[in-house]
Amino acid sequence: MLFDTHAHFDDEQFDKDRDEVLKSLKNYGVTNITNIGSSMQTSRSSAELADKYDFVYASVGVHPSETGGLTESDIEEIKALAQKPKVRAIGEIGLDYHYPDDVPPEIQKKWFIRQLELAQEINMPVVIHDRDSKGECLEILKEKKISNGVVHCFSGSAETAKEILRLGMMISFTGVLTFKNARRAVQACEVIPLDRLMIETDCPYMAPEPHRGERNFSGYVEFVARKMAEIKGVSYEEICEITTRNAKRFYGVK
Ligand SMILES: [Zn+2]
Repeated sequence: MLFDTHAHFDDEQFDKDRDEVLKSLKNYGVTNITNIGSSMQTSRSSAELADKYDFVYASVGVHPSETGGLTESDIEEIKALAQKPKVRAIGEIGLDYHYPDDVPPEIQKKWFIRQLELAQEINMPVVIHDRDSKGECLEILKEKKISNGVVHCFSGSAETAKEILRLGMMISFTGVLTFKNARRAVQACEVIPLDRLMIETDCPYMAPEPHRGERNFSGYVEFVARKMAEIKGVSYEEICEITTRNAKRFYGVK
């Protein structure tokens, strides 16, 4: 019924009860999740989680803030991990200029482009993280002619959403959509066609209202779906059905 397209169950916040939480998800109507890698280590553990749980799929890749010491042999390992049957995407990759003392933009861009090229080479979708890149992330996606991808945790404008749609990509929303100050994200969601929308938690971060500030988990993706249904003027059941269908198509899940 619900497909959480972006979760981080490898996070240490789940060390004490990971198995219990994952096994509880069916009680919340969550039928599938994709666990997303953001470093070499979390890419390995995402692939392991997908091996262990039949309803879990994985994405492997290195988040811009983790690209500092990246090497070409790491890219080879990502490529090898991507061959595993339940690894379905490359990501999360992108640009993050939020923290001034983070990895320098030139390094971030180099490895972002390298991982985009890898995804193209092995014909896999990409999961994009874009924070405060001032349009540079979108520029690179355009230059590299990326169409098979999703921009995750979207909080940009309706105009930016339209540019992403023109590339052919999907757009995914987290609990940010439920926040009181989320006017811009709501306006963007309004203009996105139903067949381009996905839902996610980005757990353990980004818990939706009425759980904002708590540890997030895939069971809360329902609140993102409910808010999206309200914005799109369709029933909750329809949003569940459509976003699950979109996610299955995107991640190649039967
Ligand atoms: Zn994430």
